[in-house]
Amino acid sequence: MPSASNAITPERLIRPEILALHAYHVPPAAGMVKLDAMENPHLLPQSLRDEIARLVADAAINRYPDAAAQQLKAAIARVSGLPAGMEVLLGNGSDEIIQLLALAVARPDAVLLSVEPSFVMYRMIATFVGMRYVGVPLDKDFSIDLQAMLETIKREQPALILLAYPNNPTGNLFDSYSLKKIIEAAPGLVVVDEAYYAFARDSFIPHLAHYDNLLVMRTFSKLGMAGLRLGFLAGSAAWLSQLEKLRLPYNVGVLPQLVAAKLLEHHDVLLAQAESIRQERARMLAALNSVVGVRTYSSEANFILFRVAKAAQIFEGLKQRGVLIKNLDGGHPALADCLRVTVGTKQENAQFLSALQDTINQLA
Ligand SMILES: *Cc1c(COP(=O)(O)O)cnc(C)c1O
Repeated sequence: MPSASNAITPERLIRPEILALHAYHVPPAAGMVKLDAMENPHLLPQSLRDEIARLVADAAINRYPDAAAQQLKAAIARVSGLPAGMEVLLGNGSDEIIQLLALAVARPDAVLLSVEPSFVMYRMIATFVGMRYVGVPLDKDFSIDLQAMLETIKREQPALILLAYPNNPTGNLFDSYSLKKIIEAAPGLVVVDEAYYAFARDSFIPHLAHYDNLLVMRTFSKLGMAGLRLGFLAGSAAWLSQLEKLRLPYNVGVLPQLVAAKLLEHHDVLLAQAESIRQERARMLAALNSVVGVRTYSSEANFILFRVAKAAQIFEGLKQRGVLIKNLDGGHPALADCLRVTVGTKQENAQFLSALQDTINQLA
C-alpha cells in the first residue's frame, strides 16, 4: 500500500545499508538438544551455585555498578596471565567490544578487514558504524592465505583487522607466524579475537608487549558464562584509555560483575569443564569421521565443522529429531554443505550422533 508522500517511514529515515541487513537470527530452542551456539553444557557444582545465590541475595542492585569494575578486572588480569603493564577494558559480551573498536576508528572510507569465512558480526558491525568491510578468502583448508592478506593490507590500508584465533565457524587455529607477519604489516590496529582460548593450545596474550598495534579480545561466553554477557579487551593503556571514552559507563551490571568475579575465583572448575569438552571433542571427531559421507575439519574450539551431502536436509532431519545445530550451507560459498555442531555433554553428543546416522539413513 503506498504511503502518503510526506509520511515519516523507516525506509526514508534509516540508512539503506541498515535496511538491507538481516537481523542476527537466533532460532527457538525450547526442549531441543541445543548444540548450535557454542555454550558450555555443564552446570556449576552445587556448592558454587549456593555461594552465587548468597552473593546475589546481598547485591546492591539499587545502586549503579562499579563503573571501574576493580575487583572483576583484577580477577581477569590474574587468570589471563596478562603481561605487566597491560590493562583490561570490559564489554557486555565481546560483541560490544567489537562495536566499540569499530566506532573508535570509523570515518568515511575507513576499512575493517578480516578473513572469510569468519565470525559474521565483523561484517555486520562494520556496516553498523559505516565502515567499509573487506574479507580476504581463506585457503581451501581454511588456513590464512598470507600473501593475499599482505597484498590486501597494502592496498586497503585497514584501520582495523579482526582475526578470530581459533576461527569461527571453521574451528582451526591460524598459523601464528602468519598472524605475526600481518601484525607487522598492518598500518592500523590488529585485534586477535580469542573467544575459544580455553579450548586452544595457543594465545597472543604473551605477545601483547611486543607489538604496539596489537590488542587481544576474549569472552567468557564459551567458557560457561554466556548468560552473563562478559567480554574483555587486553592491551596497553595508550589504546585502552582512548577506547574507554566510548564505553557506556555501566555496560556491565552489578550481577554479572559479582558472579563473574566469583566464578573466576574458581577458574580451575571452568578450565576442568573445558578440558572435558576437549576430550569429548576428540571422541566426537572420531565418531563423526566414521560416519560414511561425512568430512570433518579439525578443531581447536568447542565445536566441529563438517561437510555432508544434502546438508540443509540433514539439518532439518536433526531438528525433527530434537537436535539443534547450525546450518552454514547457503551462507558463504566456501561453506557449501557445511554444518557446525557444538560439543555438548556425552549424552547430548550421543543423541546428536544417533540422530545424524538416522537422518543419513533415511535420506539415502
Ligand atoms: C561467540 C563469539 C564472540 C562473541 O562472544 P560474546 O562475548 O558472547 O559476545 C566473538 N567472537 C567470536 C569469534 C565468537 O565465536
